[in-house]
Amino acid sequence: MGDDAFMENMRVVVVGAGIAGLTAACDLARTAPPGTEILVLEGSRRVGGKLAVSEVAGVPVDEGAEAALARVPEVLDLMTELGLGDEIVYPATTSASIAVAGTLRPVPAGTLLGVPTDLAALRGSELLSPAGLAAIDRDLTEPGEPVTQDVSVGALIRQRLGTEIVDRLIEPLLGGVYAGRTELLSLQATMPALAAQLRDNGSLVEAARAARAAAKAADGPVFATLRGGLARLALTLAEQPGITVRTGTPVRELARTARGFRLVTGSVPAPAAVEADAVVIAVPANKAAPLLATVAPRAASELAAVAVASMAVITLAVPRQAFPPGSGLLVAGAGAVKAVTLSSQKWAHLDTAEHVFIRASIGRRGEEHLLQRSDEELVALAVAQLASLIGLSGGPVDSRVSRWGGGLPQYDVGHTDRVRRIYEDVSAVPGLAVCGAAYDGVGVAACIRGAHHAAVAIRRKGQWTNG
Ligand SMILES: Cc1cc2nc3c(=O)[nH]c(=O)nc-3n(C[C@H](O)[C@H](O)[C@H](O)COP(=O)(O)OP(=O)(O)OC[C@H]3O[C@@H](n4cnc5c(N)ncnc54)[C@H](O)[C@@H]3O)c2cc1C
Repeated sequence: MGDDAFMENMRVVVVGAGIAGLTAACDLARTAPPGTEILVLEGSRRVGGKLAVSEVAGVPVDEGAEAALARVPEVLDLMTELGLGDEIVYPATTSASIAVAGTLRPVPAGTLLGVPTDLAALRGSELLSPAGLAAIDRDLTEPGEPVTQDVSVGALIRQRLGTEIVDRLIEPLLGGVYAGRTELLSLQATMPALAAQLRDNGSLVEAARAARAAAKAADGPVFATLRGGLARLALTLAEQPGITVRTGTPVRELARTARGFRLVTGSVPAPAAVEADAVVIAVPANKAAPLLATVAPRAASELAAVAVASMAVITLAVPRQAFPPGSGLLVAGAGAVKAVTLSSQKWAHLDTAEHVFIRASIGRRGEEHLLQRSDEELVALAVAQLASLIGLSGGPVDSRVSRWGGGLPQYDVGHTDRVRRIYEDVSAVPGLAVCGAAYDGVGVAACIRGAHHAAVAIRRKGQWTNG
């Protein structure tokens, strides 16, 4: 086949039916020449990966991701293209609190993932002691050196702005996004806009101000979800024409052939081979590593080194009662519950007449042992902590525990260089692409964006007109 010709009757296999794999598959299906087969192989019995929804007290409530960044245009575009435009909902409130030693304080306005830009707002939140505020002031009067290499977020901010702001603001915020530890997380990967400004600015506060000013003045709500659950996005993608999704089909091996690739699925005693012209690997890092071991060995060993954090989401339906205002709270310091979403206050569609819904997240990196407790124990643990955090009275009328073992990849120091090396190795293999939470962002929006990039790489293989 000549380089300029379309590949006819091409088969593209996407491994993994999470949001990344399904978005890549549908993007490819929309642009593929007639005769192209887009086959998604999913190991589990359901589609969606970390997007899952089931009923609590008779109401569909997300088990995993519950909101996507609405300011990444690809998110609302995708929802609208899928005919879900009328189902998009925005938070009724986004104000949130931080629980510090049992007292709720507002998350101060004007921070960049916790790095303050508005010192008056920080002071007004009463989150920090006078000594903690003085440490922030020193960053402006005695700025440090510009930061030219990737460093640990926690170590840098602790050194420049003091320990208190790390413990009370940065750790809870990043703990919310990555379930991670700031001491291990990469500045470059978790706060790229700040890292860019710090290359020529020694003050963290000034760099955060410059990063905010450089960001396009975006308007509109920050987050969005779908009535009936964000997981509907994945379920709707899986039903799109032009793609075939096979669940219960884990891929165990991937090898190159003269025309493209051979994937091995099925059980060890009864293997089944699937031939493909191009392959998108859209599975978590630890699952992608063995699949890439022979076709892209450098990428495979880099992926094997990506750490993960595990967590559980405990969803409670409780009798209507008064809670602190706002969408929820983050918890500073020790305690199993690290974040609480007051779902019925955050989302109007979950504000039903009968009950209110609360979602408690348990587990940070290194706390896998928490997930080994029974559902009953985890619900009891959440109820007890919610009693002191938000004054919850009485037990739930219904509850659900969703365990997410290895649910979030950790973007440790050096992550962006690691991802660059992975992309280099993968892009050297014609017809191969990777996407998903392990690479350029763990959020749903970043996974959607990454999936579109993977589709572009695959189109090149097929020489499609709009690739
Ligand atoms: C509890 C929790 C809450 C979150 N909340 C939010 C939120 O509110 N907003 C937000 O933006 N992000 C959130 N995230 C992050 C986000 O949901 C995920 O990072 C994202 O959905 C990951 O998508 P993915 O397609 O990369 O991977 P996954 O969703 O993990 O999908 C990968 C799929 O591949 C399948 N698979 C694995 N191995 C194989 C194999 N060998 N063969 C075939 N199939 C295989 C898996 O079964 C899975 O279905 C949350 C994550 C968790 C865990």
